[in-house]
Amino acid sequence: MKILTVLGARPQFIKAAAFSRALQQYSNIQEVIVHTGQHYDQNMSDVFFEEMGIPKPKYMLQTGGKSHGAMTGQQLEKIEEILLDEKPDLVLVYGDTNSTLAGALAAIKLHIPIAHIEAGLRSFNRQMPEEINRILTDQISNYLFVPSSDAKQNLLHEGIDESKIFVVGDIMFDVALYYKERMVKPSWFDALNLEKFILCTIHRAENTDDLTKLSNILEGLELSRRDIILPLHPRTVGKIKQYGLIVPSNVRVVDPIGYLEMVWLEVNCELIVTDSGGVQKEAYFHDKYCVTLREETEWVELVNSGYNTLVGSNSELIKSALVRQSDSKILDKSIYGNGNTAENIIKNITGEC
Ligand code: UDP
Repeated sequence: MKILTVLGARPQFIKAAAFSRALQQYSNIQEVIVHTGQHYDQNMSDVFFEEMGIPKPKYMLQTGGKSHGAMTGQQLEKIEEILLDEKPDLVLVYGDTNSTLAGALAAIKLHIPIAHIEAGLRSFNRQMPEEINRILTDQISNYLFVPSSDAKQNLLHEGIDESKIFVVGDIMFDVALYYKERMVKPSWFDALNLEKFILCTIHRAENTDDLTKLSNILEGLELSRRDIILPLHPRTVGKIKQYGLIVPSNVRVVDPIGYLEMVWLEVNCELIVTDSGGVQKEAYFHDKYCVTLREETEWVELVNSGYNTLVGSNSELIKSALVRQSDSKILDKSIYGNGNTAENIIKNITGEC
């Protein structure tokens, strides 16, 4: 069996690390990786392939740094050419980026079955490009691998046939368990001289592309007076410069870091504040309370369990969430499966289940 995997952005490399590693146990399955180049620099792409042992992509496209339409269109055209050459039995896509949608669209037009890992998530906010990518990809996929029963319900409400939906757990739990054993303290950490710190990430367009929201978030971080480490996504760096904003002095900005260092910070911080989907779950996997800089989340189970609080970009809410010592202990570790998601997916694809 030949699987062609399309990926292109940081969270997809991280998920691919678990799936591709599990695939190595199956000599009857060949995986061909297409990297669309949506994220392309050393610290947003190469570092993950190097330190997580992800197989080298056979195809490296250059579609990054463009508008959504131009990027998705170019990806569609180039992936179609590759599919015609490679003739895979299945196209595999992850998550909710333009690369996800382009891979799925290219496949369905050639009648190649599609597997979508992390299907069924919804923010119910159609202003988010990710939401559009998810809805459209789910509608045309043949195997919808969902992390939770809430995600399954979302798909059933959209009329998707139950026989295509597989509740397999969250593949990022597989990743979190495996790499916790291999985490690495960042070389710059000791020089910061911090006893305790909060870990923060900000990258989502709804926050970065809105001057008021971004400056309110920075204000909330400042008002908390807590020591905060912020590995900053290139998009956010660009917007802070463009808007002429000043990062407060209690916030230590560092370049984006590799996954092994990120896990070390997640395991050793007091609290996590983020607008990232993946980081919200990693907070839970590493027993940390999470403050989410969004009005809604796809990971509703964590909010309903009291492990995650949504504060949007309201500076007062951010401040109070960060100064409050959380007494929510993570008691239920089974919300997103048992860490065998990659294996569950492969068994469903090969018909072993
Ligand atoms: N991440 C990382 N280094 C960083 C920031 C994030 O390795 O400097 C990891 C993080 O641990 C998570 C993934 O990147 O696994 C999340 O990606 P991102 O926040 O870009 O996307 P999202 O999850 O929101 O789609």
